Amino acid sequence: MSASSLPYMKSNPKIIFFTDFDGTITLQDSNDFLVIAYPELDARILADWPRLRQIISVMDKENVAKGTSTDAFRDMLDSVKTPFNECIEQLKRNMKLDPYFVEFYNWAKENNVPIVVLSSGMTPIISALFEALLGHKPDEHLQIVANDVESRDGKDINTEGGWQIKYHDDSHFGHDKSLEIKPYAALPDNVRPTLLYAGDGVSDLSAASETDLLFAKKGRDLVTYCERQGTPFTVFESWSSILATTKDILSGKVTIKKVAQEGLETVHKEKN
Ligand SMILES: [Mg+2]
Repeated sequence: MSASSLPYMKSNPKIIFFTDFDGTITLQDSNDFLVIAYPELDARILADWPRLRQIISVMDKENVAKGTSTDAFRDMLDSVKTPFNECIEQLKRNMKLDPYFVEFYNWAKENNVPIVVLSSGMTPIISALFEALLGHKPDEHLQIVANDVESRDGKDINTEGGWQIKYHDDSHFGHDKSLEIKPYAALPDNVRPTLLYAGDGVSDLSAASETDLLFAKKGRDLVTYCERQGTPFTVFESWSSILATTKDILSGKVTIKKVAQEGLETVHKEKN
């Protein structure tokens, strides 16, 4: 695919920033919140909750091959019968986003860095949460690629039991985040921008391996996997450190290699 036909290449950026949403931009997982917050939970789902969460969050190759991840995620969300618009209002009232993300967002806009949010959550929820945080709809430089919502049994989504998740693609995660990055990673060296990724979960690893550097959330399993697989990474606690490092990469003050090396040294130092 040529660079000019790729949507995030239109402004000819030097960096494209791909990022996970839940637990990375938000401080907690919005899907977990929905399932845990509502009293109408199906008892079967509740009893099975630890196992379901395990299947969803851990990259279990056998489960992935059978498509179990996607089914468990659907089961989990199907247990929420609250009308979709009420779910959004609840989430807006309760979900906290990393306060430093706004600063990153504004800097990215001024410095021609497209932000691509890749999520296994649902686009209308993510848009609404961004709108609440930013005070307006996200500008063009922020794009959301996620699953959608659709009517269940022909009902209005804003009625009791009226909605269900509509998967973005047929991958076993419902949304294979690496698909969106691959065409950019395959661009020839003279036009290919630096590709960065921020995430907090093991499911972010395959997507991150298509990019040049992963910002991995401190204290999560992801860090251990990165070390094991040799994925270049650095640890972040908030978007304030992501912003500082991305600024330095854009200005050429540091190289990706140096950031990754320091990231590894910091993790080793903390272990000892
Ligand atoms: Mg996440």
